[in-house]
Amino acid sequence: FLVLGIESSCDETAASVLRYTKEDDIEILSSIIASQDEEHAPFGGVVPEIAARAHMQKIDYIIEAAINDANIEYTDLAGIAATSGPGLIGGVISGLLAAKGLALSLGRPLLAVNHLEGHALSPRLAAPCAFPYLLLLVSGGHTQLLSVNGLGDYTRLGSTVDDAAGEAFDKSAKVMGLGFPGGPNVEKWAAKGDPNSIPLPRPFKGKDHADFSFAGLKTAVARAWEASDKSDIAKANICASFQNAVGDVMRERTLRAIAMFKSLHGELAKRFVVAGGVAANKALRARLTELCDTEGLSLLAPPLKFCTDNAAMIALAGAAKLAAGDIDDLDVAARPRWPLDQRAASANPASG
Ligand code: ATP
Ligand code: MG
Ligand code: FE
Repeated sequence: FLVLGIESSCDETAASVLRYTKEDDIEILSSIIASQDEEHAPFGGVVPEIAARAHMQKIDYIIEAAINDANIEYTDLAGIAATSGPGLIGGVISGLLAAKGLALSLGRPLLAVNHLEGHALSPRLAAPCAFPYLLLLVSGGHTQLLSVNGLGDYTRLGSTVDDAAGEAFDKSAKVMGLGFPGGPNVEKWAAKGDPNSIPLPRPFKGKDHADFSFAGLKTAVARAWEASDKSDIAKANICASFQNAVGDVMRERTLRAIAMFKSLHGELAKRFVVAGGVAANKALRARLTELCDTEGLSLLAPPLKFCTDNAAMIALAGAAKLAAGDIDDLDVAARPRWPLDQRAASANPASG
């Protein structure tokens, strides 16, 4: 059957048509993504009001493009999936409203998808990937370690208590005037610098849990920049040292999560997936590859187009829900916060 997916939770307006035959047999018929990088660039970060207006302006056109690109009719669809949280509420509402309108007028089921579930299933857009797997999700809005046990079955092993990893890249880039989005620029400058030149903190180092913190690291970068001569050499050295610190943090936090993942699943703990925009960073990927080698896990890093926000992953999560008969009422609400693992969430309400 065919499912339309709609994504509008952050700064990408996206729609996709996906053919779902069975769990490990899917085909992406179209995937249209309109990024708002240009709209947000002058501000060095995502501005919620600007994002909401841009989603509203683009969503109908993007959905139409996804249908046309897939070469199908609206009536061919078996269900309409949309991100209904977590995310910037104005954006989520535009996508969810569009989905409700289509579901109502076509008489097809609505599938309210958790954006994080989309990311969690995203490796399956590229290749079959058996459960369970350990997922490191590192994006502009999220930094989490999850055990993906099965469909709709997640255990959160760790998450950031303040900024997301991508946010730390973006804010560090902004301080040094490197442009938005910051990640790719920091990586470029880092390649020319000395990763051990500037002492920076490794938050939570030695702590016996898998949570992250990036706020202190970001502040330390700002201080180092202020104290520097603001030359190109200083830029390169700070970027290289920052990226090295993030790599150390990611390695150590992930190592803790691997231990938890192994104790949850024993012999079945074999796969590690990294997703989200920060997974594009080659230096960080190399650190994780090394870690997986020593820990006896196989590393799966889906192609970048599936790592960053897209609607194909939302269509896939929606299709899996439809296959399981898990459909939603038309009055389902948009949720700014919606943790994948409710139990962990009530213990730590600050992170979602
Ligand atoms: P979310 O997916 O959490 O809702 P988002 O849409 O901002 O938020 P993504 O689109 O997955 O997240 O990723 C964007 C983030 O990835 C930005 O913070 C960007 O700086 C970061 N990023 C992109 N490329 C790189 C890179 N090469 N190195 C480090 N970070 C990067
Ligand atoms: Mg984005
Ligand atoms: Fe996302």
